[in-house]
Amino acid sequence: VPASEFDIIRRYFEHHGPARADVALGIGDDAALLAPPSGQQLAVSVDTLVAGVHFPLETGPEAIGHKSLAVNLSDLAAMGAEPAWATLALTLPAADEAWLAAFCEGFFAAAREHNVALVGGDTTHGPLSITVQIMGFVPPGQALTRAGAKAGDDVFVTGTLGDAGAGLRVVQGTLRVSSAIGEQLKARLDRPTPRVAAGLALRGLASAAIDISDGLAADLGHILEASDVGAELELAKLPLSDALRQCGLPEPWRLVATAGDDYELCFTLPPENEREALARLAALGCPATRIGTITAAPGLKCVDTSGKVVTLDATGYDHFAHD
Ligand code: ADP
Ligand code: MG
Repeated sequence: VPASEFDIIRRYFEHHGPARADVALGIGDDAALLAPPSGQQLAVSVDTLVAGVHFPLETGPEAIGHKSLAVNLSDLAAMGAEPAWATLALTLPAADEAWLAAFCEGFFAAAREHNVALVGGDTTHGPLSITVQIMGFVPPGQALTRAGAKAGDDVFVTGTLGDAGAGLRVVQGTLRVSSAIGEQLKARLDRPTPRVAAGLALRGLASAAIDISDGLAADLGHILEASDVGAELELAKLPLSDALRQCGLPEPWRLVATAGDDYELCFTLPPENEREALARLAALGCPATRIGTITAAPGLKCVDTSGKVVTLDATGYDHFAHD
C-alpha cells in the first residue's frame, strides 16, 4: 500500500529533529507556535531547490536533504544569525520511501548539527522541488547586512572557491579530471558546508557580508550596490583548493570568480577590526583570505598579478538570463 500524505509526515518528519524548548507546538496542527527569545530580532529566509536547476537530476536524496537545509543555514550565516527553526515544503513525484528515508537522513543530520527544529511544512505531489524556510535570532543592530562596506575596508572570503562550479562541470562532462579529484569537487557541489559559526563570529566586526551562492563577482556586486561603493579584486589571491589546482585550468580565476554554489562567506572588514576578526575565525578553524579592497569608485575592478585589469565574461548565475 503506498504511504499516504499523513503517513509520510508522521513517519519521516514528525519528532525527527532536535527538540527545542522554544517550540510550544510543532508539526501536527494548522500552524506551529514558536517563542522567539525576548529582545532578539527574528531573521527569516526561504530558498527553493528545483531538480535539474539547483542540483543535477542524478543527485542522491541524502545530498538533496543536506543541501536543502545547508543553503538556508548559509543565508542565516551571512546575516550573523543563530539558526533555530525551519519549515519544509516538499513536492514529490512519488511517495518513494527509500528516497524519503535518505532525504531525511541528510536533512536531519544538518538540523541536529545546527540545533534546528523542523516545526512544520507542506507535502504535495508534483515535479521534485524542495522549499525550506529558516528562522533564527540576532540581537538588534548586530545583523551583518549587505550595506555597510566603506572605502578602505578589505574584502575577505572564507574557505576556498570554485570547487562546486568545477564539480558541476565534471557532472556535465565539460571538465575532465581523475575520478578522485572529480569526487572531491562533486562533494563540494552536493554537500556545501554553511559557515554558521563564522557568521556569528563576525558579528560586530564585519561591515558587510553575503554568502556566495551565485558566484563571487555577482554576490560581491550585491554588497557593492547595497553599500554604494566599488571594489578592486585581486584575482591571484582567490583561494583555490588542492583539488581545483590539480584540474590544471589555464585561468582558474575565470571559474573561481563566477561559479556558484560554494556557500562560503564574502565579507568586508574595516582595517581596525581585522586582527580580532581573523583571530576569531582562526580559533574556529575557518580559513579566511583577503582578496581585495573596497573603493569609493563604483564597480568591480578585477586585476591580475601584474595589476592588469581583467574583464570577466559573466559575473554569476542568473535564473532568467537564458530565457
Ligand atoms: P494543512 O492541510 O492544515 O495545511 P497539512 O496536512 O498540510 O495541514 O499538514 C499537517 C501538519 O504537518 C502541519 O502541522 C504541517 O506543518 C506539517 N507538515 C506537512 N508536511 C510537512 C513536511 N514536509 N515537513 C514538516 N512538516 C510538515
Ligand atoms: Mg498544508
